[in-house]
Amino acid sequence: MKITRIETFLVPPRWLFCRVETNDGVVGWGEPVVEGRAEAVRAAVHVLAEYLVGRDPLRVEDHWQVMSTGGFYRGGPVLSSALAGLDQALWDIAGKTYGVPVHALLGGHVRDRARVYAWTGGDEPAELADGIAARVEAGFTAVKINASGRMPALAGPAAVKGVVDRIALARDALGPDRDLAVDFHGRIGAADARRILPLIAEFHPLFAEEPVLPDRPHLLPGVVAASGVPVAVGERLYSRWDFRPVLEAGVAVVQPDLSHAGGISETRRIAALAEVWDARLAPHCPLGPLALAASLQVAFATPNFLIQEQSIGIHYNEGADLLDYVTDPEVFRFTDGYVARPLRPGLGVEIDEAEVRRVDAVGHAWRNPVWRHEDGAVAEW
Ligand SMILES: [Mg+2]
Repeated sequence: MKITRIETFLVPPRWLFCRVETNDGVVGWGEPVVEGRAEAVRAAVHVLAEYLVGRDPLRVEDHWQVMSTGGFYRGGPVLSSALAGLDQALWDIAGKTYGVPVHALLGGHVRDRARVYAWTGGDEPAELADGIAARVEAGFTAVKINASGRMPALAGPAAVKGVVDRIALARDALGPDRDLAVDFHGRIGAADARRILPLIAEFHPLFAEEPVLPDRPHLLPGVVAASGVPVAVGERLYSRWDFRPVLEAGVAVVQPDLSHAGGISETRRIAALAEVWDARLAPHCPLGPLALAASLQVAFATPNFLIQEQSIGIHYNEGADLLDYVTDPEVFRFTDGYVARPLRPGLGVEIDEAEVRRVDAVGHAWRNPVWRHEDGAVAEW
């Protein structure tokens, strides 16, 4: 069995898919993307494809080693995301070849259903309350919200109150028994994180995400120690080596993205590393169906999995959504806040190839917003 062709597709709203074809007729799909840098990842995929074409797709780990360690310069969002999507596609091929879902190849399922959460993106208080009510109505038992919009370099009382009021409102809308995750998006610094996290502890967040930027793990111990709120980080970390310092700093939840952090292969290892520090896995996934399918394969095979992010209805999915590119949307049916174990071979999702080829002809050019402070200086988005 040999890989004969690797193609990429720029898929709205902001994704990139790859398709790996073999001479046996087995096809694997993956989602190699960094939001806002899809074209750069696409170029990196085609460089890696030069090595893969002509080789046996079933040697997933050896190919992973060549595509990462075999490069003198390695890591970072673009290269690790290109590797991630190809790794997903190779696992998809392996599962389809052996006739089992990927989690069976990872040792079999360790749970019967996996918990998922939904985003609520509303920025106005009324929108936020309505958004949460809609998620509760849909059966979700956990939601995530942004803690704030743009934040000043050091938050004054009004900005601090804005965050606390928002979280209080969300907790009130959710009731006492559902879970609330709060994403700070790296928008505040360590000093504000130490000031704000103790003030939101009374609302019992499931976790506080990215209270400081991920390239500042040396600041995390003080933030972790400032309150009892579990700290989560990881969507902008790309390997087990990137995760070691944040685990040592005491984060409670790691959030590798299956499309950024070296795919299924590396996320499995990051989860195992996290067990050493009693940390839980909550894969980041505001992305498309292949990233979610890959995430769920890991979720079902990983003992310290906590909860899965998913993007259906997320505020980024304008003009296209996760279910638009699959022919079997029931695999992403959420019941009482859980998703059932995928049973089909490979990643467990069937891609609508004709639709993917059609939209790629149009493509997208999604970029994240650039925010500025009131004095004109660039702010964290
Ligand atoms: Mg986040």
